[in-house]
Amino acid sequence: MDVHQAEFIKSAVKPKDYPETALPEVAFVGRSNVGKSSLINVLVNRKSLVRTSSTPGRTQLINFFDVNGRLVLVDLPGYGYAKAPPEVRKQWQPMIETYLAKRENLRAVVLILDIRRIPADGDLEMLRWLETYGIPPIIVLTKCDKLSKNEQARQAGVIAAAIGRRREELLPFSALSKAGRDMVWRVITELAGL
Ligand code: GDP
Repeated sequence: MDVHQAEFIKSAVKPKDYPETALPEVAFVGRSNVGKSSLINVLVNRKSLVRTSSTPGRTQLINFFDVNGRLVLVDLPGYGYAKAPPEVRKQWQPMIETYLAKRENLRAVVLILDIRRIPADGDLEMLRWLETYGIPPIIVLTKCDKLSKNEQARQAGVIAAAIGRRREELLPFSALSKAGRDMVWRVITELAGL
């Protein structure tokens, strides 16, 4: 996708505050620190449109971004931050599950995994929710610059087995080298019907 414009629309917690738009929407989710902000910023060619959200205790919001006036990208708060206070963790689940269940223009969710790590319980739970709500997952393996090509292939196989998917379905990506950017966009635009 040739991005000529990307801008923040608004933040929301509850459905009444989601932006009113009929544009197709694609959301991003993953463990805190997995590289979600970096991935979105590389996709939209911006250094810091999305700021890192890993600060524990910060109010967690759903952030909506317009791209080219044709697509909305949604940054969902990360999960699994061990030091997050219990009240922050308690708010996360209903906020995310409500979004996934109620957002009618949601076309796909990009689940970001660190290529070096075995998927955690939170990742597996997220995949189950996506299945429950019939939302196609786009699985991105990020930080692939940290491994050699051989190690990347091996880790992709290990992760695919852990989540019960084919290795070919997992998209390798690096925010550092931008490897994989075009393929991630291709899958997003296809599922968004663009
Ligand atoms: P978020 O909390 O999921 O939004 O994660 P960030 O995008 O803030 O990234 C967390 C840390 O991982 C930061 O220090 C990033 O610079 C680093 N990071 C993110 N993506 C990559 C990547 O593809 N390669 C490398 N080497 N580091 C990355």
